[in-house]
Amino acid sequence: DSDTVFYSDRWFNMLAIEDRTANTPDTWFSRIHAEDRQRVENELESHISGLNPHFETEMRMRHQNGSFRWTLCRGLAVVDSAGVARRMAGSLTDITEGKVADALTGLPNRVLFRDRLDRCVQRQKRDPNFKFALLYLDLDNFKLINDSLGHAAGDRLLVAIARRLESSLREAESFVSRIGGDEFSILVEGYGSDEEPIQVANRIIASVASPISIGDSREVYTSVSVGVSFSKDGHAGSTEMIQAADTAMYRAKEQGKSCYRIFDPIMKQDATKRLNIENELRTAIDNRQLQLHYQPLVDIKTSNIVGCEALVRWQHPKFGNISPAEFIPIAEDNGLIESIGLFVLEDACAQLVSWQRQNERFTDFEMSVNLSSRQLKSSCLVSDIRKVIAKTNIDTANLKLEVTESAIMENPQRGAEVLAELQELGIKVAIDDFGTGYSSLSCLHELSPDAVKIDRSFVDTIATSGDKKTIVKAIIALADGLELDVVAEGIETEAQQSILAEMGCRLAQGFLFSRPLAPADAYLLVTQSIAPPFVSGGIGLPLNQIVNPAIAD
Ligand code: C2E
Ligand code: CA
Ligand code: CA
Repeated sequence: DSDTVFYSDRWFNMLAIEDRTANTPDTWFSRIHAEDRQRVENELESHISGLNPHFETEMRMRHQNGSFRWTLCRGLAVVDSAGVARRMAGSLTDITEGKVADALTGLPNRVLFRDRLDRCVQRQKRDPNFKFALLYLDLDNFKLINDSLGHAAGDRLLVAIARRLESSLREAESFVSRIGGDEFSILVEGYGSDEEPIQVANRIIASVASPISIGDSREVYTSVSVGVSFSKDGHAGSTEMIQAADTAMYRAKEQGKSCYRIFDPIMKQDATKRLNIENELRTAIDNRQLQLHYQPLVDIKTSNIVGCEALVRWQHPKFGNISPAEFIPIAEDNGLIESIGLFVLEDACAQLVSWQRQNERFTDFEMSVNLSSRQLKSSCLVSDIRKVIAKTNIDTANLKLEVTESAIMENPQRGAEVLAELQELGIKVAIDDFGTGYSSLSCLHELSPDAVKIDRSFVDTIATSGDKKTIVKAIIALADGLELDVVAEGIETEAQQSILAEMGCRLAQGFLFSRPLAPADAYLLVTQSIAPPFVSGGIGLPLNQIVNPAIAD
């Protein structure tokens, strides 16, 4: 009803409204946040029509300064003698504090952060000289701490981080909030030089990096990755600015953590490309865009090819060849790796069986297939592998699965179990990229794999670095003691080959011998290599010389 008057003085004061003539239902409703308005109208309607004896709701109302306050509104319609609602009587309480403070840390929460950011964006539209920057923070190892020390310790850590952020910001005009989980944000407002937000980033990274006491005389080490976006870069609005800082934060994580990265539009292109890849990958198997190439595994003394490693290739009609180093990590993240991994396994097994039917040279041949860390975690892995064995009819003695050292170290106990189950099926297991995963050498003893593959980074510099040489020597000695095969990966020069051969390394892979080859070329290479000159002299003759380089990899 047009002359209904709502809470007068109280809401004028609360929202700092000076113009007391604005006391009409229309102005009252116009101050309700757009997202709350319809709901509040409906609730009021159902009270006035008698459906609900009370009116009570929470909503955001616009303060005179432009921000929104959360209010608790309780009321009763006052009816006249004819039974028509004339006015509302009741109370309006400011509950902003409880709504916008993060309960754990007491910092402003994401609602308030968003509000503050929106206001910065508005202010910049009015005043182009006003500059602000958004720092988006994510702790680097929070999950690990939470999982290993428990949630109570995790909570104490978050509170301690909140205090550190506040205290390292005291002098700057900045606004810290907790976005959720282990994510925080900082708005640096109205600074002079663009260096200032960077200094803030450096300060908080340093402050978070020093050990943090979380009670019980326990100290933990953590670090934070920071993404920075600047208002001067002309982001369309708050959402875009947050996305930019978030993208930059992920880049900081990729580039070693405990650092900051400033958003650059090229990152967005990369992120878009990644999204495209992700979408396209979903259909890549069905569209037959994934193929396997095979890289020979060579007996280092005789240059005899004793097996090969299946390496997946993605030939995309629009993007061209996409490297597995690029799409496998994406497939790991979104889970597609499980179906890709199964496809690879089945295709490689079927290929070997088909080669064996064509040529007895493949009888004792070894087919190596990579398993990703995500596959290793899957509870269906072993049963899936059984199905592939049954379907392709491969003799498991010819099959070797490669698991990276770091995948095993994510959960060594589970890793050891899976390895044992695979070995029970008669499958061989190799630890891939060995030397990069920070396992102690003694782990090898407990895992008892069939082989280790020395990572390319050691082979790379073996001819020049004494340290690397010592490590490789130790790995070979240990493997000998445990009676494991050692495969050296990424051999590119004869110098590397002869050093490794001297050290007693028996098996090798690398461009010196051959790049990964399409199936028909791999077949040719293997079937030709049984004849001299490949076995002559014991000096690895580069097998890639007989393959047309144009068709290689
Ligand atoms: P990886 O398992 O360590 O495979 C060896 C990689 O080193 C291959 O790269 C191979 O082409 C490359 N390589 C071999 N010899 C040399 C050499 O002499 N010099 C140099 N510079 N590189 C050499 P590729 O095919 O690009 O694969 C990269 C990685 O992608 C693989 O590393 C593996 O981690 C992953 N990947 C490839 N195919 C699959 C797959 O089917 N499943 C899974 N889970 N991962 C795969
Ligand atoms: Ca491998
Ligand atoms: Ca490897």
